[in-house]
Amino acid sequence: MGPMELNSSHVSPVLTESVAVNKSRLGIHSSLLPYSQQDSSSPLSPAAGKLSRTGSRKSAAGNIDDVRFNGWLDAMKASSPPRKKILKGSVINTLLPSSNIEYDNNEDYHSLTVDYPSAIECFGNIIGRAKNKRVAVFLDYDGTLSPIVDDPDCAFMSDPMRETVGSVGRCFPTAIISGRSRDNVYDLVKLTELYYAGSHGMDIIGPPLRHNNNDVSTNNLPNCVNSTDHQGNQITLFQPATQFLPIIDEVFRTLVEITKDIRGAKVENHKFCVSVHYRNVEENNWTIIGQRVHDVLKNYPGLRSTHGRKVLEIRPVIDWNKGKAVLFLLESLDLNDKDDVFPIYIGDDKTDEDAFKILRESNRGCGILVSSVMKESSASYSLRDPNQVMEFLQLLLNWNHKRETKHFNKQIKVKV
Ligand SMILES: [Mg+2]
Repeated sequence: MGPMELNSSHVSPVLTESVAVNKSRLGIHSSLLPYSQQDSSSPLSPAAGKLSRTGSRKSAAGNIDDVRFNGWLDAMKASSPPRKKILKGSVINTLLPSSNIEYDNNEDYHSLTVDYPSAIECFGNIIGRAKNKRVAVFLDYDGTLSPIVDDPDCAFMSDPMRETVGSVGRCFPTAIISGRSRDNVYDLVKLTELYYAGSHGMDIIGPPLRHNNNDVSTNNLPNCVNSTDHQGNQITLFQPATQFLPIIDEVFRTLVEITKDIRGAKVENHKFCVSVHYRNVEENNWTIIGQRVHDVLKNYPGLRSTHGRKVLEIRPVIDWNKGKAVLFLLESLDLNDKDDVFPIYIGDDKTDEDAFKILRESNRGCGILVSSVMKESSASYSLRDPNQVMEFLQLLLNWNHKRETKHFNKQIKVKV
C-alpha cells in the first residue's frame, strides 16, 4: 500500500482524529522550524493577519520582495523567456522521447550544458555517486512533469509520464513539490505512491514523524498534526503558514476583483499562496497588472511577491520554501543520513532554486534544472524539457532494476 493510498474519487485524504504533534513524537531539527517560536514579532504569531497590516513593513517584508524593488516590465519580461518554437511537423507537448523532437535551435540549451551538463549524458556520474545509497526523488510539477501551457488548468501530464513517475514512486521514496495547492496537484498527478507538498512546500502530507526522545535539538513544530488518511494510513500533515489562510483568501478575492477588466489575466488561489498569471495578457498591460498587484500588497506587508514564468506569485513572508520542504520530507522519511541517502531534485522554476541550494550546501544528492535556455542556477545538471525528464527517470528505473537483480543474484549465490 502506498503512502498516499487515497480513494480515487477523493481529492485529499480525510483527516480524522487530528492530534497536535507533541515534542516527543518529533525528530525534526530546530533549523527546520519556519520561524522562531520565541519571536513574537513573527508574521506567524496568532494575530498574523492583523499584525501584518499594521506592523512595520520593513521588518515584516525585509528586502526579499523582488517585485517591488525592480522595474516592473523588465522583471516580468526577464522572468518570462519565450518558449522554444518547435519545427513544423512535430507535435507540441507529446511526451515522446526527446530525440524525436526537433527544435529550431538547440544552441541555447547547448550553452546551458556548459555550466549544467545534461543529466542524461552524465547519468553514469550521477549513479556513480548514488551507488550503495538509498535514492529519494523530488519532482516539481509544472514545466517539469507537464509542459508549460497557456491555460494552467490544462497543464496535464501525459500517460507515459504518469506511468513512469508511478514506477519511480514504487522504487524510491518520491514526492511532488509544487506551487499549486496540494489538492490541485494531486488531482493532476493522481498517483497514490507519492508524497505531495503543495503551495511551494507550505502544505505537506508525509509519513508519520518518528519518535526521537533522545535528540535534544528536537522542537515542537507548530501546525504539524499526526493523522490518518482515508485508508487509515498514519500520516503527518504540516502546514507552517496556517495563520495566513484568512489574509491569503482576502488578497485572492481582491486580486480577482482588480484584474477582472484585464483580458487574459488569471488569478488562482493555491491555499497558502496566490498566483496572478499574465501569460495570456497583452504585453502592453503587463505593467498595469504589476502595478495593481503592487498596490494591493502595500497593505499586506506579511505577504511578498516573486516572479515566475509569466506569473506573479504572492505568498506569506515565512522562512519556509521548497528546500525546507525537502529537508522536512527527508527527515520524516528517515532519509537524513547524508552518507546513505542520495536525493535527486528536478525542477524548472525560481522556487526550485531553494531546493537546489539546500542539496548543494549540504553536499548531498543532486539538483537538476529543467530549462532549454541559459539560466543561473544552483542545480548541478540540466534536462531540456519534460521529455528529457521522463527519459532520465526511465534511466533511473533501469539502473535500479539492474542493481536489484544483481543484489538478488548475489543473495541466491550466498544461499547456494
Ligand atoms: Mg515548475
